[in-house]
This record gives sequence, C-alpha cells and structure tokens, in this order.
Amino acid sequence: MKLYEHQARKLLSSYGIPVPAGEAAGTIQEVQAAARRLSGRVVVKAQVPTGGRGKAGGIKLAKDAEEAERVAKDILGMEIKGYRVNEVLVTRAVDIAREYYIGLLIEREFKGPMFITCREGGMDIEEVASKSPEKIRKWMVDPRYGILPFQSRSMADHLSSDPGIARQIARVLEGMYRLMIEEDTSLVEINPLIHTPAGEIWAIDAKITIDDNALYRHKELRALREKEDLTITEKMAREKDLSYVKLDGRVGCIVNGAGLAMATMDLIKHYGAEPANFLDIGGSSSPEKVVTALEIICSDNAVRCVLINIFGGITRCDDVAIGVREYLASRKIEVPIVIRLTGTNEKEGIEILRGLGLPATNSMSEAVEKAVECVS
Ligand code: GDP
Ligand code: MN
Repeated sequence: MKLYEHQARKLLSSYGIPVPAGEAAGTIQEVQAAARRLSGRVVVKAQVPTGGRGKAGGIKLAKDAEEAERVAKDILGMEIKGYRVNEVLVTRAVDIAREYYIGLLIEREFKGPMFITCREGGMDIEEVASKSPEKIRKWMVDPRYGILPFQSRSMADHLSSDPGIARQIARVLEGMYRLMIEEDTSLVEINPLIHTPAGEIWAIDAKITIDDNALYRHKELRALREKEDLTITEKMAREKDLSYVKLDGRVGCIVNGAGLAMATMDLIKHYGAEPANFLDIGGSSSPEKVVTALEIICSDNAVRCVLINIFGGITRCDDVAIGVREYLASRKIEVPIVIRLTGTNEKEGIEILRGLGLPATNSMSEAVEKAVECVS
C-alpha cells in the first residue's frame, strides 16, 4: 500500500525526521486558511500516489496566501499519471542549498534492507541514475544487527563533507531504518532530503510503501487503505469486474485469464516492447466486458496498438468479436488493432471480425510480434 505524502511525512516525523510544517487541504478555502496559518512562503503540492509531480506541474511555490490560492486553483482537479488531484498539501517553504536522495528498500537478491543514496537528489534523479550510475551508492544492512553507528556515519559522510550536516543526516538514516522495521515498509524514500543555507536538514518529500502482508498488524495504517485511490480507468474496471493494472508501455492488452495475460505481457517484452496494462476480462464471456475493456484501453493516450488475445474455453470467441463490433458501431479505434482468437467458436468469431475488415490470427506469437511491430 502506497501512502500519500501527507501520511508518509507524519510517519517520518514520528521517527524523529524533520519535516516542514504543513496541512492537507481539499478546497481552495482550506488552502488559503492553511497558507495563512503557516504564514510566509508556502509550497502547494498535489497529493497523488505517484512521483514526478514537480515535472507534471503539481508542485508550486507561492509567496503568500493569495498566490497559494491561485496556484491551488490550477493544481486541484488536474490529472497526474492517471490520478485526479482531489487534495493538496500546503507546507512551509524552505530554502534549498542542496538536495540529496535517500531510499531504503528490501533488496531481493540480498534478501535484506538496502539503502540507496545519491548526493545529487531532486527531480532529475532518474537522469542522474541513467547517465552517471556511479553516483548512486548502495549500502546493505545486516538485519541481524540493524544499522550500526559506523554505517550511518559512513553513508552520511559520503553524502556531505560538512560534519554538522553529516551528523544530522546520520540521524535521518537511523530513523528511516527504525521506521522500516517497526512499520513493515517495503520502501521509504526521501527525495529530496535538503539542507538549508543555514545548515538545517529537512525531508521535503516522502514516499512510503507498506508491505500489504503485514497490514494486519498495523491497525492505523490499515484504516488508511479504505481511502486508497484508484486511477480513473482502474475505477471503470473495478465497476465492471475486470482486473486491470495500468503499466508504462504502449501495447494495450485485452486478454482472458490472468495466466494468459501474464504470458502475453512476457511475450510482448520478449519481442522488445512493453505492455501498457494488465487486463483480464475473466472467464465468463460477455460482449459488454469487451466493450468496457476497449473503452479503458482506448482512453489511455500512451496506447499505440491494441492487442486482443483470447483463448476460447468458457469465453466464446464470437462473444468477444461481437463486443468488438459493438464498440466499433459507435466509436473509432485510432490505433492499429491486432487480434488472436483460438478455441470455442473460433470460426464464428473470425467470420464476424472479417466482416469488420479486421483480420484475426490463431497464433499468439504471430499476433504479439505484429503488435510489437506496430509500436516500434
Ligand atoms: P516530486 O516531483 O513528486 O518528487 O515532488 P517533490 O516534493 O520532491 O518536489 C519537487 C521539487 O520541488 C523538489 O525537488 C524541490 O526542488 C522543489 N520544492 C519542493 N518543496 C520546496 C520548498 O519548500 N522550497 C523550495 N525552494 N523548493 C521546493
Ligand atoms: Mn520528490
């Protein structure tokens, strides 16, 4: 479960990590009131469970409450990576002399906690990581001993050569480690941790993921789950009983059965592209499910090709084809569509599609290869 920034920063603070004063707000009036109480310069921050808000225009500095109100008007209601912004966080702005990156996660190969640090944190961390990977440092912690003082000190010294600042950073690292163990997190990320020109340390962004399997022993965190946000398309899918997960690639997939959906994603990667989503229309066949699936996939601007992959069993191929026909009766699909049908009523299905000028194959690898070509 991913926490919102305003929830994550409360946890950081309870583990002794300094965060600038702030308040969550859902309306322009609340933003203005919060900015008044905080007084002076503030930052208005979109609350969505995803990163890259700054680059998307979801983080804005304001010199006073009036300006905070103006920028909040732009931010509230905007969409960031598929999430609608219903809430913002208003924080006291701090002056930044330097931004650091610190992440703490469970590393799968080592099977233990690993810190990731970088002296050049902030919004361009992905670029630093890809252009100068040597600037990203990794530090394993042996969970039997926990974080030892010499470890937090050497990590901190690596981040800052100023002993006063390094001492404060070491305390942040120790707090993060305690938080990970006690709250069962799979990720604690502070990007950026900053120091001010006066030498004070502040965590000005916080990302925390709680291990879902441990939620049963965290009552307060579990209560937050009820409020968990879904993307607009995830909501559509949930209403129609489809399992849908949005991903970052360009091949939109409509598949029946979770196993086949996974295999389809693997094959897309094998041929050199990335899936735009996981979507399982389920076992029982109904043309409406195919219509909803197409609505969801086609509303995703990243999709450059739609791939339908059906292995007919209980799901009948002609039902799927009828769904495609129903969708196309009132709407257009702007991108190429590649269809693979095999199994129950395959012939009938292919016949219907042929009538629409949509050829279908019964070979999965052929279909996936063609879909990958369309997006390359
Ligand atoms: P993200 O883009 O979703 O990671 O959002 P962040 O909370 O990390 O904010 C993005 C960037 O906004 C930071 O890297 C800072 O450069 C800037 N920023 C955020 N808060 C402040 C602040 O209080 N003062 C200043 N000067 N810049 C800030
Ligand atoms: Mn950030």
